[in-house]
Parts: sequence; structure tokens; C-alpha cells
Amino acid sequence: MTEIRRQSLIETAIAMNRCGINQGTSGNLSIRHEDGLLITPSGMPYSRLEPDDIVFVDGQREFHGPRLPSSEWRIHHDIYQARTDCSAILHAHPTDCAALACLQEPIPAFHYMVAVAGGHDIRCAPYATFGSQALSNHVLEALTGRQACLMANHGLVCLAGNLEKVLALAIEVEQLARTYLRCLSVGKPVVLDDAEMDRVLLKFRDYGVQDR
Ligand SMILES: [Zn+2]
Repeated sequence: MTEIRRQSLIETAIAMNRCGINQGTSGNLSIRHEDGLLITPSGMPYSRLEPDDIVFVDGQREFHGPRLPSSEWRIHHDIYQARTDCSAILHAHPTDCAALACLQEPIPAFHYMVAVAGGHDIRCAPYATFGSQALSNHVLEALTGRQACLMANHGLVCLAGNLEKVLALAIEVEQLARTYLRCLSVGKPVVLDDAEMDRVLLKFRDYGVQDR
């Protein structure tokens, strides 16, 4: 059973690169497992990964297996401990999300689909050095009431109920970032008001639960 879960993690990591969400080995992917998580290892091309290369990080932050976990394992670990509403986490540096993150700009409600991340905006977590506990703390804060956030001068984090959903969410957020950047290049997009975004969130809750 664990072998199948490790294999699906590898396949989704490969799909993450194939669909342009990630380049090389800069991103990482995990699923909740026992009291901790299974996560892609540090610095290994996804196409060469074997199930044993996937690292189990337990609830006490101990690593199990022959490889070291991705340098951002703290973010994944801390989210699983704090959020019972997710079983899969994706971190990557998709170009348009990273571009907005370098401007340290959140994505406002310029498009109704921003609600796909759970609220009226997609926040940008403050900058901290990659792999640091400070970065994990910032990300957890920016994810309050949300399923996605940008990370200043860095990239994107998404969480969802399973691997398929977390990849779909990352693709959607990258598409929103691309559209928002295009708007900014020609003018100032009109932002939907709070009442409208509340209506959209309600509709997503009523109709979209099985799709998210
Ligand atoms: Zn990163």
C-alpha cells in the first residue's frame, strides 16, 4: 500500500514538470502519511525516482529512508500538523506565480476564480531564506483560511485533499497569476467586491466540493 502511494507521488511530481508548473527539481510534493508525511527527496530528477527514494518524515521530524527530504520539508510538516483539511501539498516555482511573488504582490479578487484558493485573495507570504523555519512560519500564516499562497521572491504553495486536486489547484493558480500579470501590463484590473466574492465562495461550497 505504501509502495503504491510512493509511486503515485512520483507520477504526480513528473506530471508537475510536464504541465509546466515546475522546472527541474526546484519544487516538491508530499502526501500525509501516518503521523507525518511522504515527500520527494532533495535534488533528484523526478524521472529517476524509485519508491524507496521517497522520504518518510514522521511527526517528530525524524527522517526515514536512504535519501534526505526536500529542503522545504518543514513547510510540508508544519502544514500537516496545523491543517486537518489537507492530505497533499505541492510547492513549486511556476513562472507567473514567481513573477508576482518577486513583486511581493498578492492576487486580489480580479477574477472570480481567485475563490478557488478559499477566500477573497491569494496572499503572498513575506520573504525568508529557503528551507528556514521562518519561511515555514510565514507560509502557514499566509495560508490561514486558504488552500494556496505565494511566497515572496520564491514561488507557490498549494494544499488539497489528494495529489490530483493539489496539482489541478496549482495549475489554476498559475493561470490566474498569468492573467493578472497580463492585466497589470495594460492597466489596473477591476477588483470584485467582498459581497460578490462571498457569493462565489458560497456557490463553490454548494456545488464544487466534489471537484476540489
Ligand atoms: Zn522552492
